[in-house]
Amino acid sequence: MDSHKTNNLFERFSHLYRERNVLLENSKMPLGFQCENGWYKIIYEMSEKIKKLSSDSPHDCAITEVSRNKDGTLHVEARNLTPATQDIIVSAKEQSRLTCEYCAYTPAFLRTSKGPQKGHIACGRCLRKSAPPTKGRTPKRVTKPRRAPDVMVLKR
Ligand SMILES: [Zn+2]
Repeated sequence: MDSHKTNNLFERFSHLYRERNVLLENSKMPLGFQCENGWYKIIYEMSEKIKKLSSDSPHDCAITEVSRNKDGTLHVEARNLTPATQDIIVSAKEQSRLTCEYCAYTPAFLRTSKGPQKGHIACGRCLRKSAPPTKGRTPKRVTKPRRAPDVMVLKR
């Protein structure tokens, strides 16, 4: 995720992401959000819901890692989980399953064929955008000079 969006989340939910400045051996949060920008809204909404259950105490939920699972979905690890916060995280993960990691378009699906999106959940448009140009096709369209049709019917 780009630094602008990352900082937005860190600032807005500074208590939930309070491990963003700890040593890497203690938390993965200093790595930021290890996914693309398309999931910003999912993470934002998840954070907001968890924040509502928090009370500025050191025993509140602290997110320690945001990355991707092997099946391409959003992976979130946290401390001090309760059944309620666990539910919020699970539903964010389920939402990510059909949401393009790059542009947030839905439906999107896990891509398994070779390419930069392999292992990521991507929509058809993002998949085509990064596809290498097909060989043998000229990028420029040849424009034919306009001319009159061979047979012209003249109405009088
Ligand atoms: Zn997309």
